Amino acid sequence: MSERDGRSSPGAQASLAGTDGPRLLAGASIAAEIRSRVAADVDAFRRRHGYPPGLAVVMVGADAPSAVYLRQILRSCRSVGIEGRLVELSGRVSVARLRREIAALNADPLVSGIIVQMPLPRHLPLSAVIETLDPAKDVDGLHPLNAGLLTLGYEGFLPTTAHAAVELLKRSGIPLEGRRAVVVGRSNVVGKPAALLLLREHATVTICHSRTRDLASHLREAEIVVVAVGRPGLVTGEMLRPGAVVVDIGINVVEGTLVGDVDYPSASRVVSAITPVPGGVGPVTNALLMTHVVRAAEAQVAAATGRRPRLVPAGQRADRANHRTRSQRSPVGP
Ligand code: NAP
Repeated sequence: MSERDGRSSPGAQASLAGTDGPRLLAGASIAAEIRSRVAADVDAFRRRHGYPPGLAVVMVGADAPSAVYLRQILRSCRSVGIEGRLVELSGRVSVARLRREIAALNADPLVSGIIVQMPLPRHLPLSAVIETLDPAKDVDGLHPLNAGLLTLGYEGFLPTTAHAAVELLKRSGIPLEGRRAVVVGRSNVVGKPAALLLLREHATVTICHSRTRDLASHLREAEIVVVAVGRPGLVTGEMLRPGAVVVDIGINVVEGTLVGDVDYPSASRVVSAITPVPGGVGPVTNALLMTHVVRAAEAQVAAATGRRPRLVPAGQRADRANHRTRSQRSPVGP
């Protein structure tokens, strides 16, 4: 099946489809670009305030996949000059102790951001983290306050993976405004925020999930597809619209190999652009987290000096928000 079969609008296809197979939306160069800017911002922050922004990474138990991810984050911190701190807790830590550890990090002025390894062991409810975590240090957008800010179109901390998926599309020059987008997956940390961010970019968004009937019928309409499920091969080429742009957020290990949720061989025969797994969303996620930490550090300094406004419409940086020349536009978004 090709994009020339007349089933899609020629205008849309002209800008989406390539002629020599799909364009690979690799994250490495975008991540490198983000990291080099962050490194400069970190350096400027350190020179202004005498200490670097800090990120505390709370690891509960020895969960191997998360541990690898968390150590990558700490490596990223080092590479841009952020002070990374690993807080290792036993897998049998009590709810009360976990709360105390997070509260101590909330109170530590050298800790700008906090992330807690997910998934947590079964005996630790996510609510214990959410209720304790200071939203001003919630650099992975877990807290309901940050979720609410996203929903209402204000600046807050975005869930980093969802942020990375949409940032990757934007930085790759993929037009989003007016496009039909389908997000598969509706988790609070990935699917839902990805859908809200696409909506913020003025895409027309459908969210699919495990109870969606006939997933393929939705996907065949989509010019932009974002998949965040955790099931290898869930989306195949036959389900996709010719010329679609696909962001595969899924991470699965199949026979020792890392794969996404999209069946790459069949999808790549149909789509115009697709993210690889690994090497797509992952590196951008990691780099963007660093930018969240610097923003948290700056916002905390501003708050301490009474300069931080309560609500900033999305798209207008908090550090510019107090300037008198700033427009007073309504928040961007729905
Ligand atoms: P999650 O909380 O388990 O959510 C999975 C979502 O997929 C749910 O909304 C679920 O629907 C939906 N789903 C399940 N089966 C489905 C089906 N057959 N058809 C359509 N939808 C279906 O997972 P998550 O935390 O969002 O993570 C999703 C994936 O992204 C995982 O593979 C994870 O490893 C990966 N991930 C990647 C990164 C990165 O940096 N690249 C970061 C985080 C996560 P219901 O709501 O109806 O149950």
